Amino acid sequence: MDLLALALLWPLLGILLTVLVALSRDLRPGLWGVLGFLFGPLAALFAAVSPRPQPAPPADPESAAEIEPAPPPDPAQDDRPRTPCPHCAELVLIDARVCRFCGREISPAPDTGAAEPAGDETP
Ligand SMILES: [Zn+2]
Repeated sequence: MDLLALALLWPLLGILLTVLVALSRDLRPGLWGVLGFLFGPLAALFAAVSPRPQPAPPADPESAAEIEPAPPPDPAQDDRPRTPCPHCAELVLIDARVCRFCGREISPAPDTGAAEPAGDETP
């Protein structure tokens, strides 16, 4: 008898709880009422954890065009002379003493005449 009562109460309780949860969470109560009838109070749990329906973001092509990913800095556009780091082979400035990629010290390049301005040496 108790089992029969439970079998009758289960879908009714499911509909009631699920519709209440769905209404409190701006979900569609009709859909969730059916689920509550099928799954009982378990559907109320599903309704409680299901994400709220999000309104579609307004399509604004102008603002979308403004949000443009900035291109990564291109070493080729920087006209300062660079040399590959002897430790990690990343391009670093010729005048650099410490590699900005690996952090190790770089001895100045020996055979680059452009690195050292001529005419400043005292005889
Ligand atoms: Zn390096």
